Amino acid sequence: MSALDEVRVGVQTLDRLRLILGEESIDETLRAAAAMQKLLSKRVVWNVNSTAAGGGVAEMLQSLLGYTRGLGINSRWLVVEGNDPFFRVTKRLHHALHGEAGDGSPLGAAEREIYEETLRPAALELCALARPGDFVLLHDPQTAGLAPALMEAGVHAIWRCHIGSDDPSPHSELGWAFLAPYLQNVRHYVFSRSSYVPEVCDHGKSTIITPSIDPLSAKNQDLPAETVLGILVQTGLIEGPLSNGDACSFMRHDGTPGRVSRKADILRSGRAPDRNTPLVVQVSRWDPLKDMAGVMDGFTRLVETGASHDAELVLAGPDVQSVADDPEGRRVFEDVVERWRALPPPLRDRIHLVSLPMDDVQENAAIVNALQHHASIVVQKSLREGFGLTVTEAMWKGRPVVASALGGILDQIEDGVTGVLIHDPRNPDQLAIALRALLDDRSGAEAIGKRARERVREHFLGMKHLVRYARLFEKIENEE
Ligand code: UDP
Repeated sequence: MSALDEVRVGVQTLDRLRLILGEESIDETLRAAAAMQKLLSKRVVWNVNSTAAGGGVAEMLQSLLGYTRGLGINSRWLVVEGNDPFFRVTKRLHHALHGEAGDGSPLGAAEREIYEETLRPAALELCALARPGDFVLLHDPQTAGLAPALMEAGVHAIWRCHIGSDDPSPHSELGWAFLAPYLQNVRHYVFSRSSYVPEVCDHGKSTIITPSIDPLSAKNQDLPAETVLGILVQTGLIEGPLSNGDACSFMRHDGTPGRVSRKADILRSGRAPDRNTPLVVQVSRWDPLKDMAGVMDGFTRLVETGASHDAELVLAGPDVQSVADDPEGRRVFEDVVERWRALPPPLRDRIHLVSLPMDDVQENAAIVNALQHHASIVVQKSLREGFGLTVTEAMWKGRPVVASALGGILDQIEDGVTGVLIHDPRNPDQLAIALRALLDDRSGAEAIGKRARERVREHFLGMKHLVRYARLFEKIENEE
């Protein structure tokens, strides 16, 4: 079996983006792409991560790779094949870099052996594929261990870390100590926030690149109201007459039509909400740091205030079988289900636990898109967050977002202006208060949503990523 799988990504052109991003931004992208093409000549830009679907990194790579290939840059995407022990260690590392204990397991010699054993064959394959002078972007802790072999082979290894914590802690130090030997000679590091750059990653070699979203992807394209409803009825998320297939259609990355036909797997004890029921929605992986159970607690407090405006809660995430590098998913999901079952029936009837189909990543994206469009309020009550893509996605859809005041979310939302921040995400009352305020004041909520969309347009859209990478490659090349 191969230690690396290639993800095939279709070619996308910038034409359709022109209307949304404007001439100036497109021209800047074209100039950056031309410079990158000249600099790379026949060299390849590789991206390596550990899952083709589920989570923010896979989401960004889908779009970015499509556009860069459309711009004539030879970019490719490889996924490291891992087993359960490997992903347990990398998930432990993920928690550690976020400053959390995770499952509290050690990160010692035995874990290092598991980590290196999986990456050894992957490094061999990668070194056979990449040529000296190629650029390899290694994403997150799962791939950091590939760097030494690449550097030895004369390949430019860049480590792109999407997670981090603002303040060092014993947990984060443990994670950095584990990764330090692999990161020592990396050409450059990329982080999402400057406060995430740890001591082991020399500041002079770090660049900050803020994640952005693709407004034309199946996840973020504008959908007519009837399509939003059509998709939600088709998947079983809301009640209503099944529409004709056209009302479930979306555009795939390559411009061809797609259609939502699968159903979501929904755990509910009452009826499906109808189209007028206000929905409070969180879409996340089933990860303890996303705190789905805490969202349920906050919603419970809202209902207890007696002023919930008949809102219902939707907690949606990928079907737990499907995200390769997230072994905790099933346990977290089961924990949420257990707590949900323990709720009093009238409350439980208003909470819907949704496992979204992942067989077709773009169909999954279209369902998330419809759900975010339809939500009265989108929540991201993370306990840690590198940069919440779901926050940007919902803001782009003009939704009022309630999110935790931490990590990258602090760069995304201006409190009370382009969203609402909760300062103590572990306190369910704070979520309840924020939800109630938005449900009480619909026009205020709408105004927040409008400003949120403009903030995304200005800061978090489109091709900024590519322009930043072009500059980075140039810088690295000039350092030679
Ligand atoms: N997501 C998805 N389907 C799901 C759950 C999540 O497509 O069932 C997407 C979500 O829309 C977002 C990404 O996964 O694009 C999550 O990125 P984020 O930065 O919010 O968190 P991460 O999972 O990277 O920690």
